[in-house]
Amino acid sequence: MWATTTAVSWKTLGLASLLLALGLEGVTRLLLFVLRGRQQRRSSASEVLFFPAPPTCTEALLRPSRPLPCACGLPHTESSLSRLMLRLLSARRSLELCIFSFSNPQLARTVLLLHRRGVRVRLIADSDYMAVKGSQVGVLRKAGIAVRHDQHIGYMHHKFAVVDKTVLITGSLNWTTQAIQTNRENILILEDVTVVKAFMEEFERIWQEYDPSTYEFFPAKK
Ligand SMILES: [Zn+2]
Repeated sequence: MWATTTAVSWKTLGLASLLLALGLEGVTRLLLFVLRGRQQRRSSASEVLFFPAPPTCTEALLRPSRPLPCACGLPHTESSLSRLMLRLLSARRSLELCIFSFSNPQLARTVLLLHRRGVRVRLIADSDYMAVKGSQVGVLRKAGIAVRHDQHIGYMHHKFAVVDKTVLITGSLNWTTQAIQTNRENILILEDVTVVKAFMEEFERIWQEYDPSTYEFFPAKK
């Protein structure tokens, strides 16, 4: 008890000495420094992206070893698409995808790259839209990525992703080139623990519901 009290007293004394040494101006600067740091951390955690995004080259993200300058003819500038890809590429352990329509090749290559890096990718798709021309769902499935889809009337209309079970990417954007380059769309990226938990629970609930062993359209064996 005595030791604890003494330790606290020394700490208080140390803090008081520091504040005296800094003076009023120094203390104000220290407080501003701490507050700005907090603000920066907060702003880097959340991000809003708007579309349409002009076509840009994203090869530097998908093939970092490729020699620059790239001669593709497209602008090599940052865009909402490249920001989205960067967020996805930050995955180290897991990526949950729940995407109504997925046909954009750059986003498919992003997901394939993560799969090759050993990130556990799971994709929930819509049974109608996974079969449309240009859909990347078959490509991802062939590469060994686990895909599940609905079997009922009513679209699996979600468009969200969860990176490493900590970052939620959600909004109106379907992962199609048409939507990315033509439509007015939004994406919200956030790391709120409560919100991410709710989306992960929804993902797991749908993942279980779409388990192929429960498909009703297979005729029952007699
Ligand atoms: Zn290029």
